[in-house]
Amino acid sequence: MPGESILVVEDERSLLKVLRYNLEKEGYRVSEASDGKAALAAARKVLPDLVLLDVMLPGLDGFEVCKALRKESEVPVLFLTARKEELDRVLGLELGADDYVTKPFSVRELLARVKAVLKRAGRPRPAAAARRFGPLSVDFERYEVRVGAKAVELTPTEFKLLRLLVEADGKALTRDAVLERLYGADRSHELDERSVDQLVARLRDKLASESGRVVTVKNVGYRFRTT
Ligand code: CA
Repeated sequence: MPGESILVVEDERSLLKVLRYNLEKEGYRVSEASDGKAALAAARKVLPDLVLLDVMLPGLDGFEVCKALRKESEVPVLFLTARKEELDRVLGLELGADDYVTKPFSVRELLARVKAVLKRAGRPRPAAAARRFGPLSVDFERYEVRVGAKAVELTPTEFKLLRLLVEADGKALTRDAVLERLYGADRSHELDERSVDQLVARLRDKLASESGRVVTVKNVGYRFRTT
């Protein structure tokens, strides 16, 4: 699928440039990091579909980065190794790496590996059930909401509200429409438009850094900001 996101972790500037250029040419979205710490931060932020991970990095090395990644996600990892000893460790340790490429490699070989790993990892993602908006990911089938790697606990009503907003696809929903869709026609008298505002406030609170995705539309209601 074009547009998949790849995080390239490599401290060698020139190689990073070559990788970025060629991956983008293939239609991938590329983000980069040049040390282990930055790699982990970037992985949490962009939630890549694949991590291309150099073994020899300043600070945390590729092995440590891979181990840390594994604690929080199942993102496929493709190692870039420079020496035989590194390769032995990639193969010998239970790091959960998906594949490796030894340096020096041809761009063609690398792209083929990237494609193969993505394909293998390509759990058929039901397009409508799992959506991602920057660091915010929402899975309507699993009832899972995350901001970065952090799970967000929503009540069923908050979850329903988020779903309504997301599925409105950027269109504004009136408070009345929200009440109607959440509680149906036989809603109790205590539920007025202010309860929608309170619900939205709680949802925003839980979405923390992503709270700005729920936008107030003056005199109307709310809409979801997808970008
Ligand atoms: Ca390196």
